[in-house]
Order: sequence, then C-alpha cells, then structure tokens
Amino acid sequence: MPDCTAPANLDRYAVIGHPIQHSLSPLIHTTFAQQLAMPLAYTTLDAKPAEFAAVTERFFSAGGRGLNVTMPHKAAAFALCEHVTMRARVAGAVNTLWQSAAGELHGDITDGAGLVADLTTFLGIAVAGQRILILGAGGSVYGCLGDLLAQRPASVCVANRTASRALAAARNFAGLGPVQGCGLDAIPDTAFDLVINATAASLEGATPAIRPSVIDAAIAYDLMYQKGGTVFTQWSSTHGARSVHTGIGMLVEQAAFAFELWRGVRPPTEAVRQLLATQHGFAF
Ligand code: NDP
Repeated sequence: MPDCTAPANLDRYAVIGHPIQHSLSPLIHTTFAQQLAMPLAYTTLDAKPAEFAAVTERFFSAGGRGLNVTMPHKAAAFALCEHVTMRARVAGAVNTLWQSAAGELHGDITDGAGLVADLTTFLGIAVAGQRILILGAGGSVYGCLGDLLAQRPASVCVANRTASRALAAARNFAGLGPVQGCGLDAIPDTAFDLVINATAASLEGATPAIRPSVIDAAIAYDLMYQKGGTVFTQWSSTHGARSVHTGIGMLVEQAAFAFELWRGVRPPTEAVRQLLATQHGFAF
C-alpha cells in the first residue's frame, strides 16, 4: 500500500520485500536525501509473493517514484518490467524499479556494482587479476557475477551445494570472463585471494561445508551482514583469513547506485557508512 502518512508533496520511494520490517533501506535512503537536500519519503512495503505484482502496480499508480526490490521478489520484479538494463537481463533479476513518463516500468540491478564498489573503493580489495571463489549459485550470484567479471579477475570459481546450479551459473556467464563451476566438495586445491560467501547458510547460522584450507590467507567476504559479524566471518577468522568483511558495505553502495537511477545524482556514502558503524554497530 502507498504510505498515506507521507506528505503529499514529497516524492515517494519504498523498499518492497517479505519480510521487510528490519530493512535498513529507509535509514540509508533518507540519510542520502538529507545529505543532498532532496526531501523525499521512503518507506517499507511488505508483500508476500502472491501480492507482489498488485502492490507494485498500486504503488506506481498512486504516483510512487521508485522501488527497491529485495528478497524474495527480484525475479518477479524482472518479469514485471517492460524495459530492463543489459546487466539485469543477464542476471534475470532487478532490485530497482522506476516508471517512465509514459508509464512503462523500468528495472535495473545494482547489487554487483555495489559489491564491486565496496570491495575496490572502500575496502581497498582488488578484484582485477585476483583468484576468486564464490560460494553459492543463487540470485545474488547472478546479480554480481557480471560486474565481478568486468573487473577482469584472473579466475572465478563458483562452488555450490547443488553442483548443477554452479555449473549452470558458470555456463551462463562464460562469455564474460574466466569462470568455472563445481560442487562445494570439488573446489580445486589451489589458493584463492578472495572468497565470497553468497550462500544463504549464514541465515541459518551455518557455514558452507568447505575444507578450512580454502580460506587460509584469503580475504573473506560474506554477502550477509549482521552486527558483530556473521558465522562465516567468524569461521573465516578462526581458519586464517587475511581479513573478513560483511555485505553491509555492499548494501549501502547498491543503494547509492539505485538512488542515482532515480534522482540522477549519486550520493556520497561515507556518512551512511559512519552512521551504521558508530550508531548501529555494523563492521565493514
Ligand atoms: P538464494 O536463495 O537465491 O540462493 C541461496 C544459495 O545458498 C544457494 O546457492 C543455496 O544452495 C545456498 N545455500 C543455502 N543454504 C546453504 C547451506 N546450509 N550450505 C551451503 N549452501 C547453502 O539467495 P541469494 O543468492 O539471493 O542470497 C544469498 C545471501 O546473500 C543471503 O544471505 C542474502 O541475505 C545475501 N544478500 C546480500 C545482499 C547485500 O546487499 N549485502 C544483496 C543480496 C543478497 P543450493 O543451490 O544447493 O540450494
């Protein structure tokens, strides 16, 4: 439902997902807006999968300017769009929606750009020339692989619990760079510079079943974020990771790219990162 409490004169934005009540997106986007002196209203929309299309259509019919889309709706949002960017087409998912003046629904996915910006610009972690291991082969991997390969890593290995999904992801992106797929139990016995956990295992308080030597001396990055770190970052520290990071920075950076799609200006993200670290206890 459109947010009826927002002043009528403000441009309205929201994040749609299920569950959504703990989303940090309203805090992030309203902080961007304040910094840029661009007043807007940003709320959450809780929609179950069966409600997604109707809630989205109502939001835009009522004058809403843009939506962020999160789990579990990114593929459904892609299907709803009349126009998508090339990277969204490759990913088969969108996380940012807006309507053209003619009323057509447009979509893009900014997750991969957010991950790359967090790694390279803020954490000082190179992707170019690096040997990268990605754990998982779900929606987030499809959303990030194209942007990672565009950085020209030396190699990318996608390893997944269900090996066939890793092989399918590798096939899907093979034209964009050196990527191979395998099961978690068949990860090549070579060193990796960067290990990205893109599984949903952390949500269950588990770590993917990989041999600990995989993480030794590598940089570990968990797409999931949690105050105080995740089980994966803790496990990685225990097993000799060079440094550990969570996806909170990716969340902030993908939001900045989404804001730019809507408003034409990319907000600086340092203040939001500082706020999340000092007042909300997130480690980047
Ligand atoms: P999906 O549901 O699309 O995919 C889940 C993946 O996790 C699959 O590859 C699945 O393997 C694997 N998996 C699930 N449980 C386990 C387990 N116990 N052990 C090993 N593998 C497991 O999820 P997404 O790709 O959309 O999201 C993955 C994570 O990334 C989530 O934690 C999400 O919160 C986070 N994320 C963070 C973002 C950010 O901005 N920081 C943005 C997007 C996502 P299988 O195929 O075998 O089932």
